[in-house]
Formats: sequence, structure tokens, C-alpha cells
Amino acid sequence: MKIAIDGPAGAGKSTVAKKVAHELGYVYIDTGAMYRALTYKAIQDQVDLHNGEALAALLAKYPVELLVENNQQKVKINHQDVTEYIRTPEISKYVSTVAAQEQVRKTMLMIQRSLAAKGNVIMDGRDIGTNVLPDADLKIFLTATIEERAKRRYQELLTKGYKGSFEEIKQEIASRDKQDQERKYAPLKQAGDAILIDTSKLTIDQVVNHILQLVKE
Ligand code: C5P
Repeated sequence: MKIAIDGPAGAGKSTVAKKVAHELGYVYIDTGAMYRALTYKAIQDQVDLHNGEALAALLAKYPVELLVENNQQKVKINHQDVTEYIRTPEISKYVSTVAAQEQVRKTMLMIQRSLAAKGNVIMDGRDIGTNVLPDADLKIFLTATIEERAKRRYQELLTKGYKGSFEEIKQEIASRDKQDQERKYAPLKQAGDAILIDTSKLTIDQVVNHILQLVKE
């Protein structure tokens, strides 16, 4: 079975997807982490973030791997573990520019489809239901108010020693959503056959249980 979860930044996709994957014994594929790992490498190698060809070449040269080590989800690029570096406000600021490039998306699409072909998976991102897995057995579109999403992201960053303001995080999320919705190739959009879940007033477990129920139906 293939489950697709899409939605804007901070809607709780990865937290929920991880738990659902755990409950069902599925593989969890975090496609946002793949775009983030590429962005990290591109900044390190001083590649122009608007140059789709150069970015796709980087992706072809340096494989992105998603793996589980000691029960922890890890992301590697060119065999370097970048898990700790890809959630910073700097990467969040630039990742949508990288993800908007057509050549990058074409390469990611191939990689993501081949990852999904391996068995039962739950994949989250922005274009999974619309583009990567249009035939997914279950499609969910998770959303929440901007206020709530910013609050969650801010609280998460505070635990990592973040010193910026709540307003900055809210701005960053809003501008990333706008970029993701307005890009030309595979924009962030709810698939016609996706089930909408607004998580603003729900706990993580309530959302997880709702999805598990939908899987059973
Ligand atoms: O899910 P996360 O917030 O980590 O995603 C980071 C960014 O990666 C998104 O804002 C978007 O620009 C890009 N992305 C995408 N398509 C996906 C997953 C992520 O364009 N399927």
C-alpha cells in the first residue's frame, strides 16, 4: 500500500507520517528532507541555487539516502550525515528556491518513485498525491492555521536553542508556502482525491488514529 501525505509547512506531516509508519510497519519517506539535503550541499559547494542544471548534476553525483539508524530517521548526502544541519532557518529559507527548479524536480521524481516501489510506504511532501504517487491508495492533505503551524515550528526550534522571534518563523513559513504554491512545476496543491484534515485543534494522536482508521476502510 502507498500512502501520500501533502500539505503546507508545519502542518505536522512528518510527525504524523512517522507514527503511522511505525504503527503499520511501513517505510517512511521524507521527501522534504531530500530537498533540504540537496540545498545544504549546494550551499556548501557554492552552487547557484537558481541553476537547475547544476543542482540536478549535484544530485546525480551525490546520492541522497534516507535511513533509520538506532531508531532515528537519518538523511545523508554523499554519505555525510546531514540530519542535524538541514532544519536550520537558513536551509528553510533557501530550500523552496532549489525545489522550484524543473531539473531538480525531475531527478527527485525518479528517485522518489524508485524508493516507493520497494513496498509499503508512507511518503510526505508537497506534490506526492498530485505528482510523485498519483495512484497512491490513500491521499491525505494535512493543514492547520498559519498561527498554529508557526507556533509548532517555533516551539520545536526553541528546544534546539533558536534565538529568533516567533514573527520571523511565521514570516518564513508564509513565504515558503507562497513560493511552493506559486512555482511552475508541481506546486503545492491538494490532489482532487485527497482527504483534507485540519490539524489546528487536533492532537498528534487524534490525527494518527484518524489516518489509521482510513487505512482500514
Ligand atoms: O517538508 P519540508 O518542510 O521539510 O520541505 C522543505 C521544502 O522542500 C518545502 O518547503 C518545498 O519547497 C520542498 N518540497 C517540495 N516537494 C516535496 C517536498 C518538499 O517541493 N515533495
